[in-house]
Amino acid sequence: MKTAGIHHITAIVKDPQHNIDFYENVLGLRLVKKTVNFDDPGVYHLYFGDYFGNPGTIMTFFPITQAVKGKAGTGQVDRIVFAVPNGSMPFWKDHLHKNNVEIDIYKEDLLFEDPEGVKLAVSEIDYPTEDRHASILPKQHNILGIKGAVLDSRSPGSTIDVLTKMGYQVQMKNDDVTLLVTESSSVGSFIWVKNESGKPAKSGAGTVHHIAFRTKNEAEQEKWQQYLITLGLRVTPVMDRDYFKSVYFHEFGGILFEIATDPPGFTADEALEELGNRLKLPAWLEPKRPMIEKLLPDITRR
Ligand code: ZN
Repeated sequence: MKTAGIHHITAIVKDPQHNIDFYENVLGLRLVKKTVNFDDPGVYHLYFGDYFGNPGTIMTFFPITQAVKGKAGTGQVDRIVFAVPNGSMPFWKDHLHKNNVEIDIYKEDLLFEDPEGVKLAVSEIDYPTEDRHASILPKQHNILGIKGAVLDSRSPGSTIDVLTKMGYQVQMKNDDVTLLVTESSSVGSFIWVKNESGKPAKSGAGTVHHIAFRTKNEAEQEKWQQYLITLGLRVTPVMDRDYFKSVYFHEFGGILFEIATDPPGFTADEALEELGNRLKLPAWLEPKRPMIEKLLPDITRR
């Protein structure tokens, strides 16, 4: 079985307004869906991505206002690395600086955090000019999607082993990380597994909840489910997330993985031009809309 790479990554934060302000107005992603956590409808589920909401560009958040601050650590995604076009580093240095975001430099990449401490980076990739889109940021510098993620595993060897069985190939190892790459896609195709485990993570605001990998359709997802079970992993039944179908499992290094279908995508219930404008609910929660709208804090797109 081979995944085309990362589908989306989901993190926990506290404040939905800070979340929108940062991801839309500083990073220039588009809010492609405003919905609720299907398992806890009193909490928003905010999806950000490129203009089309393509798989591989999606960061999602559960802004839980009462959440306690978490602690990033082992058994989690450590950092999300966004891809930006080659040559745009000077722009990003200046842009983050102007928005009072503190940056660190690691090799050629810029490391920084979102307002709640979710660890991020921007890193350059080659990307065809004609395939780029502008947001509030010019298209020659705009984020193209998720380049990859850094994983902090309880058992780096086992995590690398599972990833290779999912279609990733080890490309290099340096003092800090082992880099794995998928052959297929240009965004979402990199995973760096830290060579050494750190301290155990404490789930909460400012930490990553899970990472999802792509599958083409429901038929292939069923094969994934069976295949992962043969590897000794405990995989959930298929869950309908309205914009994709999902199965979840903890890989042997303790990190929550998901396999998510590319279709139907975010235009399933909104026109492309309208994405993110209205609160969308799954059909079974629609009767409770008045109560849900009352529970959710007001948020504004600026
Ligand atoms: Zn997910």
